[in-house]
Amino acid sequence: MRLILLGPPGSGKGTQAQRLVQRYGIVQLSTGEMLRAAVAAGTPVGLQARDIMAAGGLVPDEIVVGIISDRIEQPDAKSGFVLDGFPRTVPQAEALDELLKKKHLKLDAVIELRVNESALLERVETRVAQMRARGEEVRVDDTPEVLTKRLASYRAQTEPLIHYYSERRKLLTVDGMMTIEEVTREINRILHAIGAAEAKPAKKAGSAKRNAGARKTTKKVAARPAKSAAKAAKGRTPAKKSPKAARRAVKRASEASRKAAKKAPRKVAKKLTKKRAKG
Ligand code: AMP
Repeated sequence: MRLILLGPPGSGKGTQAQRLVQRYGIVQLSTGEMLRAAVAAGTPVGLQARDIMAAGGLVPDEIVVGIISDRIEQPDAKSGFVLDGFPRTVPQAEALDELLKKKHLKLDAVIELRVNESALLERVETRVAQMRARGEEVRVDDTPEVLTKRLASYRAQTEPLIHYYSERRKLLTVDGMMTIEEVTREINRILHAIGAAEAKPAKKAGSAKRNAGARKTTKKVAARPAKSAAKAAKGRTPAKKSPKAARRAVKRASEASRKAAKKAPRKVAKKLTKKRAKG
């Protein structure tokens, strides 16, 4: 399974990536983590990246593409990976396409975690205040000020990827404002629906039922693509689905999620208006 998690900083990509790692036995490739390790180790890449990261900017494409290219080669990435924080620009996405093509590898899906920005700022403010109260060290780029810059980078340079992957019928959108558990369930359900979770060990079979039971608890934004994705796969046991049928399911699920992605901002805007009216 090869996935990309797409979403602004603080949308829960790291948390969901770790859950995917545990469930599907794939590796998490987080460029942010790798860069932080390079900074800590004082490598040449780390030295180049340090100030850019602290200021909330984006590290040059060639650096992160190089890191990912090397990392995908490692034996532990052979059974699959989830990219967290990469690609972040269209040139990075193009470089990734090339890389995968050369290696004859296929990307299963790009999962967009859609969140509303004011909630992200509230989350980071609370987290930083709590960490400071406990006397813990706060990441230099995890302050409300730097987050504002990182959100601006996301909007300008990363958001175009939503269109990029939507055009390539890879994009599946999940409402990232749900609880962590709900988001996880929704992602798993989508992965089953498109047949990407076929290669899972037998012990995970029961969780498909649990996921099916969780359908009613998910919110509308997420339910729409997933419902259609589930419909697309209806009547087929994921394990028996032919590659052709799986491709058809991805296509239908992508189309459904593209429609939801178009509608979602209005919902978020509505929610915000309501919230403001209340406050
Ligand atoms: P993250 O942990 O993914 O939020 O990344 C932390 C920081 O590392 C970002 O704010 C960027 O400065 C840098 N970074 C991580 N991934 C990338 C990427 N794909 N392209 C450019 N910069 C990146």
